[in-house]
Amino acid sequence: MNIDGKLTAKRLREKLSIEVMELKSQHGINPKLTVILVGEDPASQVYVKNKVKQTQEIGMISDEIKLPRDTSEKELLNQLERLNHDESVHGILVQLPLPKHIDESTIIAAISPNKDVDGFHAMNSGRLFNGEKGALVPCTPQGCVMLAKQHLGDDLSGMHAVVIGRSNIVGKPVAMLLLQENCTVTIAHSRTKNLPEVCKQADILVAAVGIAEFVKADWVKPEATVIDVGINRVLTDEGKYRLVGDVDYANVVNKCAAITPVPGGVGPMTIACLLKNTILAAKQSIS
Ligand code: NAD
Repeated sequence: MNIDGKLTAKRLREKLSIEVMELKSQHGINPKLTVILVGEDPASQVYVKNKVKQTQEIGMISDEIKLPRDTSEKELLNQLERLNHDESVHGILVQLPLPKHIDESTIIAAISPNKDVDGFHAMNSGRLFNGEKGALVPCTPQGCVMLAKQHLGDDLSGMHAVVIGRSNIVGKPVAMLLLQENCTVTIAHSRTKNLPEVCKQADILVAAVGIAEFVKADWVKPEATVIDVGINRVLTDEGKYRLVGDVDYANVVNKCAAITPVPGGVGPMTIACLLKNTILAAKQSIS
């Protein structure tokens, strides 16, 4: 069966819109997300447009700063310095990837950890690693765990979770979140031996690899819940592009207990969790 990411994200946004109303009425705070886009990368423009739209739809303030491609690292750092000190801004997101002449890690480190709604700052990774409450946790991994719970219920303890991929954006944080849920966690990656055998042990299998239809049906046990993070564009026989995940969906869907489709699975959860993080940052700014 499919796990419906669109519906889960919609329900989360509805819940968040109530929290926004409460923040306004009880504390006079209107959560504000500022997104910075450097350059004109078409995919990034689409992502930013969707972020702005969904932010406004739940009653939050959205601000978009568009900078030309040749913006210097120093200029971007100056913008961040200003936003870090602007009390009306609760969340700051710098859309990645950045042009090559700007060092991403320098930029991520310059965002105030309290406004780092992408959750990529080392302070927030550390808080997640330590299991501290109130950490701003990367959005896609949060979405993955919510979708796993959508099918399995809130108690994931004792389940064996296998995460394929060890990036700082998806693989590592999703593994940390699943560990917090008391799963037994295996992180598999490009050097893992006998990957199909490792995957076959998974009660929860998270694929964050970036290779189209990489995970095959005979890697998945029948009781498994499969969370497919991948977004890959492949050319069809008709010469058009279509999006596929990191899992061979057509053959896995009838083999496993539940799976997130691509599109319509993890993808919609990412922006919803970004809104969730911005509201959390706004709440944490009150004290
Ligand atoms: P990445 O390239 O940073 O990391 C890929 C990981 O896969 C690496 O850690 C690597 O060790 C592992 N890997 C590569 N080849 C492998 C192999 N042959 N066997 C086992 N492991 C292998 O990618 P990422 O940023 O973590 O993203 C992963 C996928 O998730 C991509 O398709 C990306 O587009 C997608 N993604 C989706 C969302 C979303 O909102 N749904 C968000 C972020 C990323």
